[in-house]
Amino acid sequence: MKTIGLIGGMSWESSDLYYQKINKLVNEKLGQLNSANLILYSVNFQKIEQMQSENRWDDAGIYLSEVAKKLELIGADVVVLCTNTMHLVANQITDQISVPFFHIADAVADQIVKNEKNRVLLLGTKFTMQKEFYKNKLNSKGIEVVVPNIDQQEVVHTIIYDELCLGRVLEKSKQDYISIINEFVQEGVQGVVFGCTEIGMLLSNEDISVPIFDSTEIHVNKIVDFIIDDK
Ligand code: GLU
Repeated sequence: MKTIGLIGGMSWESSDLYYQKINKLVNEKLGQLNSANLILYSVNFQKIEQMQSENRWDDAGIYLSEVAKKLELIGADVVVLCTNTMHLVANQITDQISVPFFHIADAVADQIVKNEKNRVLLLGTKFTMQKEFYKNKLNSKGIEVVVPNIDQQEVVHTIIYDELCLGRVLEKSKQDYISIINEFVQEGVQGVVFGCTEIGMLLSNEDISVPIFDSTEIHVNKIVDFIIDDK
């Protein structure tokens, strides 16, 4: 089995999901006492959030690529960035490593295409919803991406940072998300992308009438397929 190098901590709540989901899936596929070969480098999210809010994306890219290099140095066969937002600096990371790196938005786009959908609602941080790096990946596979209006984006974004990243899962926030999603379902979106690794803590398939594309789940499937490919 190959070894996964996870760049986590953004937030640690979602890295916890990656850790559990990866190990459960490996065990489901291989049985017995099999679990994943995995190295987790968990960063201090406060430091990253500060760089985001100060628009210091280059600095964040340098920092995360240093982490990626360390993971490669100690034996990672693949590097995985456990956040959608920080894929904004994915190129800076891939420039510094020679092992594979699976872009989360590529994995999500492939899954949408596989499900024969071509118009989706994207939920995530305001960086993910507003900047082009994520939407471009989906557009390049023929998927039309719709995002909430500015006020709705503020709601979606604030719930991620002020609640989910701190492990707070509130019913009121769940209802806020559902009502935003339902508005777009009525307008004809065929699916909802959970383009933030914490949203799966708040909502599941039962809450929504169209298919969910949960980036965490999809990313994990992609990674596990890769690491157990040669057993
Ligand atoms: N985990 C989140 C994401 O998937 C948000 C935290 C971050 O800004 O990295 O985008």
